[in-house]
Amino acid sequence: MIELVLMKTLREYLDLAKEKKVAIGHFNVSDSEGFKAVVESATELGVPVIIGVSENERSFLGVAEIRALVNVKKDEGLPVFLNADHTYSVEASEEAINNKYDSVIIDGAEKPFTENVFMTQMVVKYARTNHPEIMVEGELGFIGKSSTLLDEIPEGVSEDTQTTVEDAEQFIELTQVDLFAPSVGNVHGLVSTGEPKLNIERIKAIAEAVNVPLVLHGASGNSDEEIANAIEAGIRIVHINTELRLAYREGIKKKIMSTDEVAPYKFMAEGVEEMKKIVTQKLKVFNGIK
Ligand SMILES: [Zn+2]
Repeated sequence: MIELVLMKTLREYLDLAKEKKVAIGHFNVSDSEGFKAVVESATELGVPVIIGVSENERSFLGVAEIRALVNVKKDEGLPVFLNADHTYSVEASEEAINNKYDSVIIDGAEKPFTENVFMTQMVVKYARTNHPEIMVEGELGFIGKSSTLLDEIPEGVSEDTQTTVEDAEQFIELTQVDLFAPSVGNVHGLVSTGEPKLNIERIKAIAEAVNVPLVLHGASGNSDEEIANAIEAGIRIVHINTELRLAYREGIKKKIMSTDEVAPYKFMAEGVEEMKKIVTQKLKVFNGIK
């Protein structure tokens, strides 16, 4: 577990996570209810947390609006950080950098290696020039794009598309990214027919070969034990989205179907409660809290 000492940046918390062999939780939100659930859970446990917003999530929330929400917590002294999750263009990455997000993911994982390297280099250069404190994450190896319930493993994802140690080293060397997301058996979304297994050996090998924190995407559906093993092997940020979305929907649905309640803050509160259960349980696993 990470004590909330006088630390300010995501970079510093990541250094501490490495030292303590724990991971920082990254949870995607679409609105103020999701934000509330994540922040309250992290605050109750006393751990740092990252709010993630994909391109679609931040276009719904507002790129600047969610930054303002996170700033309210930052000003209260809470270690809540904001990440521009899966950003598919250099322009959208620059917009997040201009809005002073704590980190941004330029996702060229579906593109050929050289093209991925090129667009990632452009974002790293833009960040270094304009806001050098902002961390840039690169991705290598396709793991699907949809944070929903899936009938099968997304097309184009297989053991063959997992990131090799050599490719990871080369990609990081060429792009100079601050954070790296490999494909190691993880998939975006929840696979109803059974989640593929994480390649713990590969995570360990990549972590030993490179000098930047590793990020595990698409951890919804992986068991607590698998995730704990991945953290032990070197993962420093774990992403959860789909499980949170399902909990939110279930919570609101239960309330709306069982009463005639019309006050949004009452039926939305049920969604918040259900999300909090997931966030708290995951944060305990990520931070080694019993
Ligand atoms: Zn992801």
